[in-house]
Amino acid sequence: QWLLLVILGALGGVGSFRLGLRSTSPGTELKRALAASEFVPYYQPVVDTENGCWHGVETLMRWQHPTEGLVPPDQFIPLAERLGLIVPMTRAMMRKVREDLVAHAAQLPAGFHLSINITAAHCENLQLVDECREFLAAFPAGHVVLILELTERQMITSTEVTRQLFSALRGLGVRIAIDDFGTGHSSLAYLREFHVDFLKIDRSFIAMVDSHALSRHLLENILDLSMRLQVALVAEGVESVEQSHYLTQRGVRLLQGYLFAKPMPADRLFAALQTPPSP
Ligand code: C2E
Ligand code: CA
Ligand code: CA
Ligand code: CA
Repeated sequence: QWLLLVILGALGGVGSFRLGLRSTSPGTELKRALAASEFVPYYQPVVDTENGCWHGVETLMRWQHPTEGLVPPDQFIPLAERLGLIVPMTRAMMRKVREDLVAHAAQLPAGFHLSINITAAHCENLQLVDECREFLAAFPAGHVVLILELTERQMITSTEVTRQLFSALRGLGVRIAIDDFGTGHSSLAYLREFHVDFLKIDRSFIAMVDSHALSRHLLENILDLSMRLQVALVAEGVESVEQSHYLTQRGVRLLQGYLFAKPMPADRLFAALQTPPSP
């Protein structure tokens, strides 16, 4: 029985990968899916509470699996990272995002912010600069603002290459956001080094609005700290009107969460962009 538990544990360790228990290995299955263009972007709006408009969208990857249906990223991205497949998957998704947006460019308000989640491994060489340049070249200058979201849990080490990378990205007008802020340990020096433009306060802190003394105190500390860093703030995972009011009162202007909209495919995004925002 003990051995069985060990084996099950080992299988479970493969990224809780339901799809991998078939005849092919998970890696082979991911590669097949990549070649078949099964990784697709969904888009979730970020709302500017000052005017109720959509400030932009975050791109969130989904796996449109032929038999399993829509697979959420938690079920394949950790594995894709371990197998070194996340970089080509992100590249393929960025091409799709560009196609989606170019086809509807006229509908996008000027200066529309588009965020992409980038894994630390993607920052190990300068190819990302070419990818961003190519992405932006598809739009009139300034029409789309590209933001790269780097999670605070994967710290990027400062090397000659990363210094060149982030300086070239800045030259292109690409902005940097620290994702899941509060869950890692980025220092002020780190935020300066990478010229961070946005902090995305992790959802776990936003949920503390609804709780009592101690947790709420934690949230207040994170907000105080963020404000003092003088970087634009985005609150993620806003689910209730109460949370939204609380954050707006404290000067957090950009909000993202189910209260406003869930991640959606491109056709629904552009349908929604055509209807004016409700007050
Ligand atoms: P994340 O970057 O922190 O993205 C926010 C997650 O919170 C998304 O989950 C989003 O659907 C979810 N969310 C948004 N609003 C709410 C809300 O009000 N309530 C709750 N409970 N959840 C909310 P999703 O799409 O499942 O993505 C999970 C994670 O997978 C992302 O977390 C990100 O770390 C990773 N991920 C997604 N797409 C990509 C990608 O293209 N590349 C990389 N490297 N990672 C990605
Ligand atoms: Ca993110
Ligand atoms: Ca996040
Ligand atoms: Ca998160």
